[in-house]
Amino acid sequence: MEFEIEWLLVLPLFFALGWLAAQWDSRKRAQESKKLPKSYFQGLNHLLDQEPDKAIEALIDVTRVDTGTVDLYFALGHLFTQRGEVERGIRVYQNLIDRPDLSETPRLSATFKLGSAFLSGGLFDRAEQCFIQLIGTSREFEARQQLAHIYQSQQEWQQAIGMVQALKETAQKNNPNYSNHSSSSDKQNTQALALSLSMAHFHCELAIEAMHRKDWSVAQNEIQAALTERPQSIRAQSLQGQWYAAQERHNEALAAWQNLAQAQPEAIPLLVNDMMKSFVALNRSADGVEYLYQQALDTGSIDVLDAWQLAQNQYADSTQSLARLDALFTRHPSLNALNQLLNARIKEEEVGSEDERSKAALIRGLIQKQVKQLSRYRCTHCGFEAAHYYWQCPACTRWETYPPKRLEEIENIKRTRDNPNNY
Ligand SMILES: [Zn+2]
Repeated sequence: MEFEIEWLLVLPLFFALGWLAAQWDSRKRAQESKKLPKSYFQGLNHLLDQEPDKAIEALIDVTRVDTGTVDLYFALGHLFTQRGEVERGIRVYQNLIDRPDLSETPRLSATFKLGSAFLSGGLFDRAEQCFIQLIGTSREFEARQQLAHIYQSQQEWQQAIGMVQALKETAQKNNPNYSNHSSSSDKQNTQALALSLSMAHFHCELAIEAMHRKDWSVAQNEIQAALTERPQSIRAQSLQGQWYAAQERHNEALAAWQNLAQAQPEAIPLLVNDMMKSFVALNRSADGVEYLYQQALDTGSIDVLDAWQLAQNQYADSTQSLARLDALFTRHPSLNALNQLLNARIKEEEVGSEDERSKAALIRGLIQKQVKQLSRYRCTHCGFEAAHYYWQCPACTRWETYPPKRLEEIENIKRTRDNPNNY
């Protein structure tokens, strides 16, 4: 590449421009710093020295001198709550709210932030008081969302229902097309769906509480309320079956679950254990085992396979087990099925040398470890993994974010989708 002589002329120009920019910047900074009171810098120093209490005092001093420093309080409060120093965050917001000269908008913001800080500190009662103060103000919607969150985490289902109902009404008032999905935005649709899902589950929770009390009519009303909110709700329809079964009405229970299984096969893994109990109660355990085996063949679900294996060993001829497992494994190859197959084989044929047997035990041990890892459910929203199925994710508290499928099934489905010819 040839060196061009023009560059020798241009380079000094760049240097000169850079120097001018630096001078201008430092002059501007010096002018700005003159405007700031001394306590501002003291506050910053204390913060840097890890002395947050002194920092608060110094920064509060700044706000006495200059009433336009509300943002400083918010920044401080945010800083403390982000660092997990909730008590300090609470003090900052409380201090801000106590200022008599504070105007309406920052007062509402500070009250909301104070409520959120109480909430992250686990002080639900005090958080509730803050959010209740915001009802009737411009922050009402967000405050009600937080209140619904508080009530559901406290399992105050009735109050949670009241709050979600109010949220739905507010949303509809603000946007008459809210429930009309075709003309609402995606965000509004997601919000409407989340509210409706929560509402259906709150009713289901109340139905379960009533069933524990054997209050059948209240339980039935709650199940119906959940179905009115979401007619396809798997949980509400499955509860309807449980409601019959709890009153020894097993034929009706089985009919309810079988209808659900036919209409929404994804619900089957959640139903099989209850269904088997009703088959047994009706002295039809052989039918139950057969039904479960067919469902395991049709769905390839690990939960159904487990339920069938349990029932087969308990209620049916165990000599059939191996051939049936073989057929299942051929149709739906999975580590879980392989593990069960190996276990069944080992029970049948205790043969081979001691060395061979110990090698086989080692391989089984490795497979079992892997099976355990892959036997979890995963939240589709936050990725939290759990050994049990949850209707509400314990980590992100969203409803119905766990598909009733074990990780291994999800991985298998993904693999077949990505490589349809190479299972
Ligand atoms: Zn989650």
